[in-house]
Amino acid sequence: MTEQTYTAIVTGAGRGIGAAIAQRLADDGMAVACVDIDEASAGAVAARITDSGGRAAAFGADISDADQVEECVAQVASSLGAPTVLVNNAGVLRDNLLFKMSESDWDTVMQVHLRGTFLMTRAAQKHMTEAGFGRIVNLSSTSALGNRGQANYAAAKAGLQGFTKTVAMELGKFGVTANAVAPGFIVTEMTRATAERVGQSFEEFSANRVAAIPVARPGQPEDVADAVSFFCSPRAGFVSGQVLYVAGGPRT
Ligand code: NAP
Repeated sequence: MTEQTYTAIVTGAGRGIGAAIAQRLADDGMAVACVDIDEASAGAVAARITDSGGRAAAFGADISDADQVEECVAQVASSLGAPTVLVNNAGVLRDNLLFKMSESDWDTVMQVHLRGTFLMTRAAQKHMTEAGFGRIVNLSSTSALGNRGQANYAAAKAGLQGFTKTVAMELGKFGVTANAVAPGFIVTEMTRATAERVGQSFEEFSANRVAAIPVARPGQPEDVADAVSFFCSPRAGFVSGQVLYVAGGPRT
């Protein structure tokens, strides 16, 4: 198979890192299903891709809902082609120090990151095993190594690394690889919201983060998209079960 025959699903494709990944995989020649809970934002990203000559379509789905996931993956298969690439990118934050963290803060983060990734992967893998080829990339985070105020998110992002390695072991014999990309500080709506929550201007928040980054700049969504592109490519067939930190240094 070549990239021109791949259909890729990118979750949380309506903005930020997901939008950059969708654009990059389309630039690589893939047909891209832009999935987001906000169908309008996914539609705008898909329109940008098609306007620039690529192949894309938008699908609205909440990835934590099993029925919506099954229906979404079936729709992608019938309209764009059987998905053989899946990028589990959709995510949410519900940051708080542990003593103030509500059960709802905990559950929401687990539902989207862990349950959502599980549901999407389970639904998409049947198309990959049938094709004898597949690429799964899960978005982890440097927060998987621990981060103050993110007990829920750190647990989910560390959990995704274990999930990734297990999927790599189970599906490798069908030609399917699974890898994780773990970004550090990337400029998106998510990090803008974090700056607001801690009461800093984004400029101040960004400068503080950059001070600890060896390459001395914030990450951009395209930095993450480049790493995802490699894992999704035909050239990455012997790379599986790995976690690549895309953080401008070992763990910042
Ligand atoms: P973002 O700007 O908040 O975008 C996330 C997207 O996911 C949004 O479009 C959001 O839709 C969508 N989404 C949320 N819940 C969903 C659900 N249940 N079903 C479908 N779509 C859903 O975040 P980002 O910064 O691009 O982050 C993308 C991924 O990278 C996340 O997994 C995040 O944890 C990870 N990451 C980010 C950073 C960083 O510095 N930005 C660092 C490490 C890891 P709405 O617009 O409706 O909310």
